[in-house]
Amino acid sequence: GAYLGAIEALNPKLNAYITVTPELALRQAEAADAALARGEGGPLAGIPLAIKDLFCTAGVRTTAASNILRPFVPPYESTVTANLLRDGAVFLGKANLDEFAMGSSNMTSAFGPVTNPWTRPADAAALVPGGSSGGSAAAVAARIALGATATDTGGSIRQPASFCGLAGIKPTYGRCSRWGIVAFASSLDQAGPLARTVEDCAILLGSMAGHDPKDSTSADRPVPDFAAACRRGVKGLRIGVPREYRSEGMPAEIEALWQQGLQWLRDAGAETVDVSLPHTKYGLATYYIVAPAEASSNLARYDGVRFGARVDGGDLIETYENTRAAGFGAEVRRRVLIGTYVLSAGYYDAYYLKAQKVRALILKDFTDVFRQVDALVTPTAPSAAFAQGERMDDPVKMYLNDVFTVPANMSGIPGLSVPAGLDADGLPLGLQVLGRPFDEETVFAVGAAIE
Ligand code: GLN
Repeated sequence: GAYLGAIEALNPKLNAYITVTPELALRQAEAADAALARGEGGPLAGIPLAIKDLFCTAGVRTTAASNILRPFVPPYESTVTANLLRDGAVFLGKANLDEFAMGSSNMTSAFGPVTNPWTRPADAAALVPGGSSGGSAAAVAARIALGATATDTGGSIRQPASFCGLAGIKPTYGRCSRWGIVAFASSLDQAGPLARTVEDCAILLGSMAGHDPKDSTSADRPVPDFAAACRRGVKGLRIGVPREYRSEGMPAEIEALWQQGLQWLRDAGAETVDVSLPHTKYGLATYYIVAPAEASSNLARYDGVRFGARVDGGDLIETYENTRAAGFGAEVRRRVLIGTYVLSAGYYDAYYLKAQKVRALILKDFTDVFRQVDALVTPTAPSAAFAQGERMDDPVKMYLNDVFTVPANMSGIPGLSVPAGLDADGLPLGLQVLGRPFDEETVFAVGAAIE
C-alpha cells in the first residue's frame, strides 16, 4: 500500500513505470500475508518489486517500451518472474526501459525518458538513469520498489546500477532462464536483479536463477546460497586489476575510486595483482556487430501478423513494411539495418564471422587470467550519469559508455556493479566485479567487501 502511494506521487515525474498494477499487487500481497500467517511464506513473501517491461507477465501488458508491442498482453509468465512469484514476491508494475533494451540512457523508450532520482546539486538538470534498465534502476533508487528485475545484454543492469547508486548483477550466461523474456541478442542476454545492496541482489538472484527445460541454454546446475557468499570475506583472494580498463579520457575521480576500492579489498585481506586482457580493445566493436546481428534476426518476428501492433497495407509485404516503419523507433531501426548488413552475403565473413572469432579471443583472455586471479575489479562505466538528451545525436559516443561492461557479455562471465562512492558533483559511481563462469559466490563476496 505504501509503495503504491509513493508510485502515484513520484512516477509522473520519474516515468519509471510504464504500467502500474495496483490490484494485482494488492492481491499478491494478501496472498503473501495469508501464506506468512500459515507459516508458509516464501523467502520473498510480500517483497515489492518492479519488473522490467521486457519480462512477459501473464495478463499484464508487456511492451519492451516499443510501439510495436504497445497492445501486447502475454498469456504466459516468464520463468524468472514465475520463480519470484513462487517465492512470494509482489509485482508493483512494469518498469520503463530503452526500446527493446537497446540503449544506455533510457532515452529511446517509446513511452518517454526516465529521470534519475539523483541530481547534481549545482544545476539540478534532469539526468539519465542509465539504460537499458533505467526504469528498474530509477524505481529502486527512488524507493518506489524494493528491488527490480532487469536484463543485461551489454551492460544494461550494471551501468544503470552505477548511475543510480545501486547494486546489480548480470549472472553467468545460462544462470537464469531466458524463457518469456523479449529477446534482444540471444547469445548475450541475461536476466538479473537490481537492488539497494549486494546482499539484496544475492537474495533476489537466488530466487530468479535455476535450470529451466524451456530454455536450452539455461544451465543445469544447483543454485548456491548467494546470500551466504556475501558474508564469506575476501581473505586470501587474489584480485586482478586489468590495465586495459584504464581508458583514455576517463575522469580522474573514477580512477581514484577504483584505487580506493582496491585498497579496501587489501585492507580486508585480499591481494591485488596487475593483469592484462589484451583483446579488451576489440570488445565494443565486436559487440556492436554481434548484438545488432542477433537483434535483426530476433526482431524479424514483429511483422504485424503474430504479435502486437499492425498497420494494414495493400498486400502482406506492405503490411509488414507499414507495421515495422510505424512500430520501431530510430535506434531499433539502426540496429536492424546494421544487423542485416553484417549478416548479408558478401559481408558475413568480413564482419559477423570475424567478430565471432574475436569474441573467442576475448573469452580466452578471461580464461587465462582466471588461472591467476579469483576475480577482477574495474570501474563499471567511464562516466557518471549524464544529462537527458546528451549524446543522442551521436550514437557512437553513446555506445562508448558500454566499454567496460560488454566484455562480460561477450564471454558469458558474471559481472556485479557495486555502489562505491560519489563524484565531485555528488553523483554515484560503481565498481564492477567480474568472476569465473558460475562463480557468482566469489563475485558477491568481493562486492560485499567493497560495499
Ligand atoms: N547499451 C548496450 C546496447 O545498447 C547494452 C544494452 C543492454 O545491455 N541491453 O546495446
